Amino acid sequence: MPVHVKSWKRFTGREGFKVKRGKVYLVGAGPGDPGLLTLRGKELLEHAEVVIYDYLANEEFLKFTGPQAEHIYVGKKGGDHTMSQDEINSLLVEKGRDRFVVRLKGGDPFVFGRGGEEAQVLVAAGIPFEVVPGVTAAIAAPAYAGIPLSHRDYAASMAFITGHERGDKAESKIAWDKLATGVGTLVFFMGVKNLPEICTSLITHGRASETPVAVVRWGTTPQQQTVIGTLQDIAEKVVRANLKPPAITVVGEVVRLRDELNWFEQRPLFGRCVVVTRAREQASEFKTILSELGAHCIEFPTIAIEAPPSWEPLDAAINGIATYGWVIFTSVNGVRFFMERLRLTGRDARDLHGARLAAIGPKTAEALEQYGLRPDLVPNEYRAESILEGLSGEEIKGKRVLLPRAMTARDVLPETLRRWGAQVDVVPAYQTVLPRERSTEMMERLISGEIDCLTFTSSSTVSNFFSLFEQSAILPVLKHVCIACIGPITAKTAEEHGLKVDVMPSEYTITGLAQALRSHFENRGK
Ligand code: SAH
Repeated sequence: MPVHVKSWKRFTGREGFKVKRGKVYLVGAGPGDPGLLTLRGKELLEHAEVVIYDYLANEEFLKFTGPQAEHIYVGKKGGDHTMSQDEINSLLVEKGRDRFVVRLKGGDPFVFGRGGEEAQVLVAAGIPFEVVPGVTAAIAAPAYAGIPLSHRDYAASMAFITGHERGDKAESKIAWDKLATGVGTLVFFMGVKNLPEICTSLITHGRASETPVAVVRWGTTPQQQTVIGTLQDIAEKVVRANLKPPAITVVGEVVRLRDELNWFEQRPLFGRCVVVTRAREQASEFKTILSELGAHCIEFPTIAIEAPPSWEPLDAAINGIATYGWVIFTSVNGVRFFMERLRLTGRDARDLHGARLAAIGPKTAEALEQYGLRPDLVPNEYRAESILEGLSGEEIKGKRVLLPRAMTARDVLPETLRRWGAQVDVVPAYQTVLPRERSTEMMERLISGEIDCLTFTSSSTVSNFFSLFEQSAILPVLKHVCIACIGPITAKTAEEHGLKVDVMPSEYTITGLAQALRSHFENRGK
């Protein structure tokens, strides 16, 4: 792994080292919003050989890691510890001896994260370590609930406190009497279970019972939930709301500012769970727009793009690439898989110099341009037939034509070219498959009522969705789910499958669809 060795030197700064030594980075993953990981944290993840992560560290960060990385989940959710702290410590020492380890912890590693203890274990074992602070939930969860921890009018001091210790414990490390009256804003971690005792202790030790309190669950994530009350009634309200850990509890006058500053939970699609059915490769733009509007997006690609069952035909074509007069690309994926295979077989774009290139539409042409290739032919219309119109003027007779494309595709193009006397090789460069694995999970989510909306951005996403489920089983559970389609053709396909389409934009684009969803849910109210 040459890339890794280079980066290793860069990080350790030990240029002359002959024997590779390990190092452990205790990295704060932030409170949950993926945007709140530090740049340093991301950089280290990219180079990690081993990532050891917690229940509270957003799993989405694993995508930053390279193919060399080993991912180890060590759990820790309330009582159900996947691994005990001792086991985690041993693991850190074992992996840290000769590997580049990122120990990813929720929030900040040195704030109630036992990061201090882990660092001590590393020191004792003689393993070098570094700490990368993270955005702690103590600050971030209140911030996303519209609560600043300090404010000139309300609070000039604050304390972070563990809620694990019961207020009535004799040997408590917490000076309840001093905290209750001596500190402006109190922030409790892990305090849901002991909330009644915490509130009673504070009142008994002199804090006014009408002091406002906020409990913020899963702060900074699309599932954020906030309950507001006073020291007197918050415990009861939390039980009534059935609010479970993980949550941060904020006690103090600053909580009043939420009425004015509650920005995050007021976004138009906040609290809405929207399913995106596009292929993973195409989902990200739509997801970004929906997330900015506050939606919780679930990716459920109804189509997956994979390598063909065998590379042999494509490799043979690439081997003889100099013999082709034309290479015709009919999709972005065709371009990507072809170019990647060209590269992996030791060639590059220069090997295409003898062939003329055609792209079926502007997106495919753009994909070629990204490899520094300018297509000789791009028809005006996005249809296989249009390529033929463009080509008819060309001298195609007797030429060899290569069509690297999906495993199954329409035959008009090769057949017509053959009729014109071309020698056509159709080779599979990729295949589209139905990703069945997650359909049971999706069914469960739909039945539980967790999903608010299903979005379809093409007819094929609709028909693929229906081929993943039994029609008789899926239709009844979709009754109470908002069905959103990008345009009339997609909507027609949805209706043909028995769906009632609730949302369709007047502008048939991703942005149009997102805006239509926004109006739909705003009109419906929360
Ligand atoms: N090191 C972490 C805290 C770990 S202790 C940090 O700095 O944030 C675990 C506790 O953190 C949870 O029980 C909960 O009280 C709090 N917590 C962590 N992430 C949270 C989140 N997204 N929203 C609310 N509370 C959170």
